[in-house]
Amino acid sequence: MEIEKNLQNTGLIRKIDELGRFVIPAILRGEFNIKSGDNIKMYLLDDFIIMKKFINKSKQDRKISMKVDELGRVVIPIEIRERLGLAMATPMEIYVEKENIILKKFEPCCVFCKKSKKLIKYKNKPICTGCIRELKKQI
Ligand SMILES: [Zn+2]
Repeated sequence: MEIEKNLQNTGLIRKIDELGRFVIPAILRGEFNIKSGDNIKMYLLDDFIIMKKFINKSKQDRKISMKVDELGRVVIPIEIRERLGLAMATPMEIYVEKENIILKKFEPCCVFCKKSKKLIKYKNKPICTGCIRELKKQI
C-alpha cells in the first residue's frame, strides 16, 4: 500500500488514555459504520497504525482484532504501543484512506520547513531555530 499518497488528514487529533485505548471519533464511526461490539483489525505500517473494520469472524481472525466498546474505544495492542512509544495522553493524528482509519503519532513541526527538532513557539506556532536564524539574516 502506498500510504502517504492517498492519505487524507481529517484534522482530528485524539489522545491515548491510561489504558492504551483510543476513541474513534463519532464522525468516523458514522462514516465507517463502526458500532459497539464490532471488531477492528489493527496493524503497523512504518509509523502508521492502520485500523479497519473487520467482518470475517473465524477464530483465527478474531485473535488479531480488537473489539469496539460502548464508548467507541478500542485498545491499541501493547506491541504496537511499545513499538511506537505511545504512552498515556500521546496525541494521535487521524487520517483516512479508503476503508482504513489511520493513526500517526502527532509531532509538532516547524511551520516553515516541517522539521520537528529544536522548536520554539512564536504566537502559538512552532518554528525551528534554523528558520529563525534565516529570518534574522533577512532583517
Ligand atoms: Zn524550520
